[in-house]
Amino acid sequence: MNCDCIKRLEATVKDFHQPEVNAPIESVRCQNIMWTFGKGGGEHIGIPFRVKADAVGYRSAKGKEFSVKASYCPFCGVSTKQESGDE
Ligand SMILES: [Zn+2]
Repeated sequence: MNCDCIKRLEATVKDFHQPEVNAPIESVRCQNIMWTFGKGGGEHIGIPFRVKADAVGYRSAKGKEFSVKASYCPFCGVSTKQESGDE
């Protein structure tokens, strides 16, 4: 990610919901986070896909879930590719 939208929005969501919660909110975490490793690695927005097949690991009712890294931040529109990118 080339922006701080995830951290910024987690803080915004916490501030927005705190008045409705009768205890201090301990944490707010975006649920579509995926991690990549190596060059350009780190925290990214991942869009979940499910693959069903008659094979081990893919036979459940919903199939096997994979996340695909978003090419652009869905909140601010900035490209998620590394600045010096060779992705
Ligand atoms: Zn963003």
